[in-house]
Amino acid sequence: MRLHLTGTVLSAGATRSGAWVEDGRVAWSQPGPADAEISGVVLPGLVDVHCHVGLGERGAVPPEVSEAQAMADRDTGVLLIRDAGSPSDTRWVDGRADLPRIIRSGRHIARPRRYIPGFAEELDDVGALPEAMARNARAGDGWVKLVADWIDRSEGAEARVRPLWPADVLADGVAAAHEAGARVTAHTFSHEAIDPLLEAGIDCIEHGTGMDADQIAEAARRGIPVTPTMIQVDNFAEFAAAGGRRYPRYAEQMLAMWERRDVQLRAFHEAGIQLLPGSDAGGTIPHGSLPDELARWVTGGIPATDVVALATWRAREYLGAGTLGEGELADLVVYDEDPRGDITVLSRPRAVVLRGVPVSSVRSG
Ligand SMILES: [Zn+2]
Repeated sequence: MRLHLTGTVLSAGATRSGAWVEDGRVAWSQPGPADAEISGVVLPGLVDVHCHVGLGERGAVPPEVSEAQAMADRDTGVLLIRDAGSPSDTRWVDGRADLPRIIRSGRHIARPRRYIPGFAEELDDVGALPEAMARNARAGDGWVKLVADWIDRSEGAEARVRPLWPADVLADGVAAAHEAGARVTAHTFSHEAIDPLLEAGIDCIEHGTGMDADQIAEAARRGIPVTPTMIQVDNFAEFAAAGGRRYPRYAEQMLAMWERRDVQLRAFHEAGIQLLPGSDAGGTIPHGSLPDELARWVTGGIPATDVVALATWRAREYLGAGTLGEGELADLVVYDEDPRGDITVLSRPRAVVLRGVPVSSVRSG
């Protein structure tokens, strides 16, 4: 199929007018008569780097549910997913031309009673972490997902979010994953989890709500991006209320991070940390939420122009994916208007083109 895209094509370093798609790839000059024409503002497909395909509220889900999740993401223009931990085998998705591309992180790695039940591979012995990280590195697509902190309920009234792993074990674990050729990202809410992760050579940070100014500066210096998951962090007040009476210190800790969440978001951006687009869908947040997450960045104070770049070509470059260069994969989204002027435009794609083919379930023309 040969498509003619008439309109503005936005991507890394260049704004062009018009492009063609042939055999699933982008062409900057006309390869021949087009079978169809789509007009509008064209962006490289959105990226969701914190998305869990194959995860539901109670853990693993059947393939038909994973399929519906991936389609919900796709229909909002998310065409590349870094799956930030999934208990289901979603390898079959790779054989489906109509579903987004997935870069897997294997399973979440946690400890018993120190994460959401049913989600993670839970290690009884903390010393088993390096072996588990190496194994998940080999099972995934170049990433490993670690749960670095969670509430420790065994502390009773003193319970709060605390690190799961001793610093030396963490360093060995990250080294083992690196040796197996994978990058490591970690779930962190707390302040205490960050220094050991930085010392261990972590590659990426999820949530990052507890990072202080020094840790933010250090992450910026090392080029470590942060996935701010604002929809999830907006829930912290609720988490605090739910834990409140039994775990007052936890409630206090979560509420303090909730109160400064927009300040934190801007602090990352102003320090020069690359913000990564992540919905944290799966579990409790519905798939297809990325446009809402990106709109939330704008209400949090990040300019829409930056958000559009970060959610598309910047994130794709970070993951090693194409950005609509000549001959690159034609995974793209078309909008009626420029989302840099109104970020909510992202929630209304005119057409989603995956592997050079318009996806049928969204309107096109
Ligand atoms: Zn998550």
